[in-house]
Amino acid sequence: MANVYVITGPSGVGKGTLIKLLLERLPQLELSVSATTRPPRPGERNGESYHFLTPEQFAARVELGDFVEHAEYSGRRYGTLRSELERRTADGHPVVLEIEVQGARQVSAALPDAVRIFIAPPSPEALRTRLIGRGTDDAEQVERRLAVAVEELAAASEFAHVVVNDDLDRAITELAQCVGATLEG
Ligand code: 5GP
Repeated sequence: MANVYVITGPSGVGKGTLIKLLLERLPQLELSVSATTRPPRPGERNGESYHFLTPEQFAARVELGDFVEHAEYSGRRYGTLRSELERRTADGHPVVLEIEVQGARQVSAALPDAVRIFIAPPSPEALRTRLIGRGTDDAEQVERRLAVAVEELAAASEFAHVVVNDDLDRAITELAQCVGATLEG
């Protein structure tokens, strides 16, 4: 299997922004589209942002063993479909997974060669400011996500690679170096 890169860290840390820039710098990388039971946000399209599934559909696919990893996060389910990974790696593309911490832990068992990178905020306060500032979640969701973030931050030491997203230019350079150094070929 081609290289798999797992990018994890708390919600609001800027994983999405960093990954977007990473894909621009290293265009051979492909982003795996996850499945979720959370409703689409405005502008999100099925099959592009996520594969949006009902809880019943998600549960059925868990039963079928269709997920490489899956987790419950803030009351919703999220998971990486085996078919997504296989489709992209079959043609030799290295794949990026953007997932939360429980899923990132599972991946080390399922895909032992995956490179796992934790994105950390410069401070817990910076996370709160970002989560509120991006305006994608209501106040209750922000609080739930911050509560989870406290536990997620404690997991940073489990990962060999930690990139602090203090300054976007600096962080993307470090992330691209980390990924680039282990790309095959
Ligand atoms: P959001 O609802 O903000 O899109 O995502 C919430 C959290 O779920 C984020 O930390 C995101 O990285 C994570 N996530 C997205 N896709 C997956 C996935 O396939 N598996 C797991 N375990 N987490 C995911």
